[in-house]
Amino acid sequence: MNIQANDPKLTSWVAVPEDSDFPIQNIPFGVAMPPANNPRVATIIGDKVVDLLVAHDLGLFEGVAIKREVLDQSYINDLMALGKDTCRAVRNRISEFMRSDDTLGAKSHADRLLHKVSDCELLLPVKVGDYTDFYSSEEHATNVGTMFRDPDNALLPNWKHLPVGYHGRASSIVVSDTPIHRPTGQTMPADADQPVFGPCKLLDFELEMGFVVGKDSKMGERISTDQAEDYIFGLVLFNDWSARDIQKWEYVPLGPFLAKSFASTISPWVVTLDAVEPFRTAGPKQDPEVLPYLKYKGEKNYELDLEVAIQTDSGQEKTVCKSNFKYMYWNMCQQLAHHTVNGCNFKVGDMCASGTISGKSPDSYGSMLELSWKGTKSIPMPDGTERKFLKDGDRVVLRGYGIHKGVRIGFGDCAGKILPAREM
Ligand code: CA
Repeated sequence: MNIQANDPKLTSWVAVPEDSDFPIQNIPFGVAMPPANNPRVATIIGDKVVDLLVAHDLGLFEGVAIKREVLDQSYINDLMALGKDTCRAVRNRISEFMRSDDTLGAKSHADRLLHKVSDCELLLPVKVGDYTDFYSSEEHATNVGTMFRDPDNALLPNWKHLPVGYHGRASSIVVSDTPIHRPTGQTMPADADQPVFGPCKLLDFELEMGFVVGKDSKMGERISTDQAEDYIFGLVLFNDWSARDIQKWEYVPLGPFLAKSFASTISPWVVTLDAVEPFRTAGPKQDPEVLPYLKYKGEKNYELDLEVAIQTDSGQEKTVCKSNFKYMYWNMCQQLAHHTVNGCNFKVGDMCASGTISGKSPDSYGSMLELSWKGTKSIPMPDGTERKFLKDGDRVVLRGYGIHKGVRIGFGDCAGKILPAREM
């Protein structure tokens, strides 16, 4: 697919630092609140927020089928609902007025059009209706199965026949840099015969990617793997915070509940599926053969480097995991096809997360549960302390990006700091 805004030769009249996730080829969508202003739909180039509401007022979207009120919003849902063709036209037009040979005269309005990102509050970009979490990394599912069940039968019999998932909680999805209180709950200590109540002792992150649905489907209708990309608007980094001790006690037989629903953090900019087009790659070979409704054509995985860093109270940072989105056994199109095969409908703003993305090597595991191998290994931190799970004061940062023809397309930080449990 030839997407005009992706042209690696383009440069912007806004300076883009070399390691920026946001060159002119990215043009993600989010919601920013500039100083003394209302929230509005925005994009970002380098470290400048581009105010799309102002762009509309300046007439820069003339000829593109987008009304002002779609941009005068606290969420990008109405923008996504315009459909892929219109959103593509919007992205192409932004590319046109932000590029170096700015023929539309946007640069002369830079003082109104641009805000320093550090001056803006970045808000949750999507009003999330429903959220589903998958479990689609073979390495992660194998590690967990090995630790908690049987190394010889680590994957349950269904795992290679369908993308396993569960319905998560949408109300507690928050944007990057929202502090997270350590959850409290019920656990069963190893040496006890009665459950106890208190702060979670085994708090964890999960490195995941989330996709945002930008088109409604009808109840009773299926979305095929061929149609799925028309429904997937874009991607965010997704931290599915997890309370392992609460999870262990509560999860049988219906799966995780309060161990996951206290918070999930996403990155502030929704990177369009169009923008990650250059990073398409083949997924792992699926053996045994999948049922016909899960078969797909073409390359549906994406080569995007992912990493997790922990910043301790002292401000020092350690990268504890390096993984890649391409490791997913089940791709997003298969997830959506499976999710709707029973007639379940999707709505604009619904979100699905991939499941923890682990690779084969121990430094690519996407959770502390795996990195510390159930708490049997310690990870040394630069300030001399050690981690098996997360401590109060730790700030966890997910990062993700791909580089193609010298152009880096990334997501920005998906961060959250752990605060002590609330008083009981
Ligand atoms: Ca998860």
